[in-house]
Amino acid sequence: MDEINPYAPPKSTEWDEFRYTEINPVAWRDGDRLMVMKDAILPDRCVKCNESAEGFQFKRSLTWGSPSLLIFILCGLLPFLVLYVLLSKKGRVTVGVCPLHRQERKKAITRGWLIALAGLTAIVVSGALPDNIIPIAALGGFGLILTGLILGSAGSRILVPARIDKQFIWLTKLSPVYLASFPNAQLRSQPKQIDEL
Ligand SMILES: [Zn+2]
Repeated sequence: MDEINPYAPPKSTEWDEFRYTEINPVAWRDGDRLMVMKDAILPDRCVKCNESAEGFQFKRSLTWGSPSLLIFILCGLLPFLVLYVLLSKKGRVTVGVCPLHRQERKKAITRGWLIALAGLTAIVVSGALPDNIIPIAALGGFGLILTGLILGSAGSRILVPARIDKQFIWLTKLSPVYLASFPNAQLRSQPKQIDEL
């Protein structure tokens, strides 16, 4: 028979087949995280609500570094910043995002820029204000710029990596329904000697 049996076991353990066929999943549920193979293209469903993404592909290169190094950086040990950048792991993933969440993302970016712009305006205008108000207006302006940038980037963030290693990216803050649709990582059959393929 020439018919393709979707329930047939994979014929080959080749890495690329393992990665891209429907028979072999590319992502697994790992607690409250999604463990995804690097370069995987996930189903056409929104990662935030599990609704149809209507073919829209959200492609992102993610970077993740060990939080322990971040503590050293925060303590003012600048060399650790270099180490952090050098030791950071990267991985690309493509996911679906529904029209609603795409719109929300755009709104968050716009809101962020508007707040930052208000801050910039406050700084520019502060020059024309009485001397005793200038520092307050300038400081407020800087605060607004920072707030706008932080709110904008936080609100527009669709994919949050919790960890990245040689093969996988662990994503957090996804829709629980979406997450539940993936097989359990603990039940994953370990392909042999991936590194040597
Ligand atoms: Zn959505």
